[in-house]
Amino acid sequence: MSTDWKMIESELYMSCVNRQQVVLVKGEGNWVWDDKGKKYLDFTSGWAVNNVGHSNEDVASAIGLQAKTLLQTSNQFYTVPQLQLAEILISNSILDRVFFSNSGAEANEGAFKIARKYGKINLDGAYEIITAKNSFHGRTLATWAATGKPHDEDVFQPLPSGFVHVEYNNIDSIKNSTTSKTAAVLLEPVQGEGGVNIPNDDYFHQVREWCNEKGLLFMMDEVQTGMGRLGSLFGYEKFEAQPDVITLAKGLGGGVPIGAILSNEKASVFEPKSEHGSTFGGNALTCAAAYASTKYIIEKKLSRNAEEMGRYLGSRLLDLKSRHPIIKDVRGMGLLWGVEFDVDVAPSIYLNCNQTGVLLGLLSTNAVRIMPCLTINKIEIDEGIKKFEDGINKTKKDLI
Ligand SMILES: *Cc1c(COP(=O)(O)O)cnc(C)c1O
Repeated sequence: MSTDWKMIESELYMSCVNRQQVVLVKGEGNWVWDDKGKKYLDFTSGWAVNNVGHSNEDVASAIGLQAKTLLQTSNQFYTVPQLQLAEILISNSILDRVFFSNSGAEANEGAFKIARKYGKINLDGAYEIITAKNSFHGRTLATWAATGKPHDEDVFQPLPSGFVHVEYNNIDSIKNSTTSKTAAVLLEPVQGEGGVNIPNDDYFHQVREWCNEKGLLFMMDEVQTGMGRLGSLFGYEKFEAQPDVITLAKGLGGGVPIGAILSNEKASVFEPKSEHGSTFGGNALTCAAAYASTKYIIEKKLSRNAEEMGRYLGSRLLDLKSRHPIIKDVRGMGLLWGVEFDVDVAPSIYLNCNQTGVLLGLLSTNAVRIMPCLTINKIEIDEGIKKFEDGINKTKKDLI
């Protein structure tokens, strides 16, 4: 029996995304297969989630074992996977405490509450959070308000207040926007959705110094950059930055939905009086998966692979740029890369690459994002670049 899944989707699902016309049914390592048996190299890794590769053995068996042992207890009780995961994250970071949620947006919501309470206690009721233009922090109401796009046209108005947007990679912009109401600064180590924007080496040092001077919390949204993506376990390491709080999600669970807030003691302001919590957050199943995935990233040195393969991928993308003037800019770090075109061809290239067999992320009408699993090797990168180039050539032909 053939089932028309695309038809079913168009009738039943809320239409929030423009989907690629591919029904994926299987994944293994850096490859995925559609319902017709066609194989694709996955340069999206589930939106920077599958850092340990699709169907990773260690993660799959941890999930299977935990599913047969204990799934959910609520946070009323201690559970072992939650504390194992807490231990491996804390012992490999500069932070002291953790709280688990179910997504990146939910982790950021928790970080906002930390900033507000911190401001209440330490900064005379200050509550504003400075975030950057072109940032992305999620799609709940508050994380949407924090996200650095113009909100004037939003149908979701009124949005929660208390967010101020500054120029990214510009310390003076932060200084000029700091007032007696400011409680915290929240920045991505590298802006992902905003176009793969990489700040100067000294930016986060300057932010840290300013936060120290004014007593503000320095928070980093590492939902996309954390867990090896930039070539170090956490993105802040790349910039020798010293945040008080970081949030994680995407690459944390090896494919299962989990988020986390990590904080130092100073920013650990929640108390056990129902100020913060979660029914599913930190449950045994997702924590067992995330523990297996984190262990795998550390033991197999996937951060180092991301660093080395990222450098290789970058050089291959620059080769492409030299052959195709239609490519305006190539930028990235570790295994997070953006390719910008000088005309609005990104949707066409993205669709043509479906045919040539490589899956890309669409950033905007003139840019695509390449973010493979951290397990990728040179042979796979070469294959992906070839398929990408075939897709670019197809689009160029269509343009003539
Ligand atoms: C994806 C993303 C989020 C939102 O995470 P969800 O799990 O989709 O809620 C927040 N911040 C950054 C930097 C992200 O890339």
